[in-house]
Amino acid sequence: MVCDLCKPSVHQTLWQDNFCRVVLLHDANYPAYCRVELLSHIKEMTDLPPEQRARMMKTVFAVEAAIREVINPDKINLASLGNKTPHLHWHVIPRFIDDKHFPNSHWGAATNNELQANNHELSQASQRLLQDKIKTYIECALQG
Ligand SMILES: [Zn+2]
Repeated sequence: MVCDLCKPSVHQTLWQDNFCRVVLLHDANYPAYCRVELLSHIKEMTDLPPEQRARMMKTVFAVEAAIREVINPDKINLASLGNKTPHLHWHVIPRFIDDKHFPNSHWGAATNNELQANNHELSQASQRLLQDKIKTYIECALQG
């Protein structure tokens, strides 16, 4: 079975090893929105042996920490759904009280229209910083 996440990513890859990858979605409303994608086509966290579950979450938390440092969001949303694409991946979504959907899920009803919503743009410099921090934090987390 070849699903979208089994294919090479169409998104910018910020970091990858032989287990998972971190991609930057360049979402217009959520510019620092990242996704951590397992490379193997596995459906549920409990299909992974415990040490691989821990490895996945260490990676997710390292990405969360990097995003918090670089853009200082009001909240982080972590989500793992996979109903449409049953291939393990975690959404790491920085949220601001003036973003398009706050306080709803970013998949929910918009609360600010496009003109009112602040999309908290990610500058090129911030994007490079985010990539550097993601690499540093993940590699540090995986050593420990
Ligand atoms: Zn897949």
